[in-house]
Amino acid sequence: MGAQQEKKPSEERKHKSTQNNTQTSQVQWGRAWEVDWFSLASVLFLLMFAPLIVYYFIMSCDQYQCSLMNPLIDLLTGNKHLSDIWNKTPMLTYKAAGIYALWVTFQVVLYICLPDFCHKFLPRYVGGVQEGAVTPAGIVNKYEINGLQAWIFTHVLWFANAYYFHYFSPTIIFDNWIPLMWCANILGYAVSTFAMIKGYFFPTNPKDCKFTGNFFYDYMMGIEFNPRIGKWFDFKLFFNGRPGIVAWTLINLSYAAKQQELYGQVTNSMILVNVLQGIYVLDFFWNEAWYLKTIDICHDHFGWYLGWGDCVWLPYLYTLQGLYLVYHPVQLGTANAIGILILGFIGYYIFRMTNHQKDLFRRTNGNCKIWGKKPEYIECSYMSVEGTKYYSKLMTSGFWGWARHFNYTGDLMGSLAYCLACGFEYILPYFYIVYMTILLTHRCIRDEHRCLSKYGRDWKRYTAAVPYRLLPGVF
Ligand code: NDP
Repeated sequence: MGAQQEKKPSEERKHKSTQNNTQTSQVQWGRAWEVDWFSLASVLFLLMFAPLIVYYFIMSCDQYQCSLMNPLIDLLTGNKHLSDIWNKTPMLTYKAAGIYALWVTFQVVLYICLPDFCHKFLPRYVGGVQEGAVTPAGIVNKYEINGLQAWIFTHVLWFANAYYFHYFSPTIIFDNWIPLMWCANILGYAVSTFAMIKGYFFPTNPKDCKFTGNFFYDYMMGIEFNPRIGKWFDFKLFFNGRPGIVAWTLINLSYAAKQQELYGQVTNSMILVNVLQGIYVLDFFWNEAWYLKTIDICHDHFGWYLGWGDCVWLPYLYTLQGLYLVYHPVQLGTANAIGILILGFIGYYIFRMTNHQKDLFRRTNGNCKIWGKKPEYIECSYMSVEGTKYYSKLMTSGFWGWARHFNYTGDLMGSLAYCLACGFEYILPYFYIVYMTILLTHRCIRDEHRCLSKYGRDWKRYTAAVPYRLLPGVF
């Protein structure tokens, strides 16, 4: 564990007596308790427009060959009315509802009924029961880490059914893509609404709930920190990882199968997107235990942002490159393909090594080697809501000495590689890099605001030692 609880009662008393001075910052550890107008405006904007954005992108591919401009031009020139576009949009079907219900039920079963066995035979894989980070109320949750197993199971079944038993076509996801989108929206809204009601009436850990008093903010950013049903069904871990991320690679495979069906071949760009995103997804499941220590699980409350985002935004917008390539089967020149592959690998290497360095550092409490040397760090302390003092360390060497979020830089390089694989004819595939840049820059600021509230002066010492966020010397 990165944080060590200080057990000496005299120390605790000392810190309780000084707590009044720091009350504001302690209370803010987690999320802002007072909602400023900018946050509220952003929340309202996203609640209103995020579902429309997803619809617009997917509809543009379905009706306009992935052109983002042509629907607008048609509407502005009066060539088409909104009702024309809507009438051409496939509606919810029983078939899609059946597929989706089966899919989610299957993932729930894999998640709660199959304890992990992969860690028993895969060297260096960490699975089975693992602990999360200390919550603001001082609780340490336990998780059953079995995502890799669920991913393998699902993919083996997919290949067997699609290519051996022929129970369904491998293009099934593409063929039902818009009807499935309605199902994903229904689940996304249902789970976010349920999470809100649960937060009010039967929260799992009441001390970790946060009510700002603003209905929209609470609905979007969540009330409960770690909502659960029973001992093991953790909403955040389930919805973050499955059904969305397990589906990611299946969706890409379905796009590749559609290319094969339409054009008799799978282009090298489609293979690149499948391979690079496949590595990213596998990395996520291989490192699921590490994921328990990331911002999503450690700091975010569970609301619409995670619930709807994981059900709809992620599977529909993170897979736009593959969808685009179904409509535009780009065949890259060898040099370009190799260049993109190298960019993707370097980005992945930086992303993984930076995350690994922090994980190793925190797991060993600094007793490890980073780039062959003992890591350098800044000692820091913080208090839980109840006034218990904890100690932690912020590393200032390795990639963490280059910039405060170099893992994001690697992620952005990988994201750019997926987009470049689609060529330069249309802007739709570049949505991902634009979105990731906004997401991760905003995340830097959000995380640093939280860390400043948590560590106070120690955080300032850290930012003085590592002055840049993403790019050394630039930002
Ligand atoms: P980090 O893994 O960088 O975690 C940030 C936390 O790490 C901080 O809040 C702090 O937590 C701790 N920390 C910060 N600096 C240091 C340091 N110098 N030494 C030790 N600990 C430190 O961020 P995320 O959870 O946001 O991201 C994890 C990965 O997931 C990233 O690689 C990111 O690119 C990726 N990601 C991908 C997304 C996607 O949609 N594809 C979305 C979001 C993230 P503490 O309170 O414990 O000190």
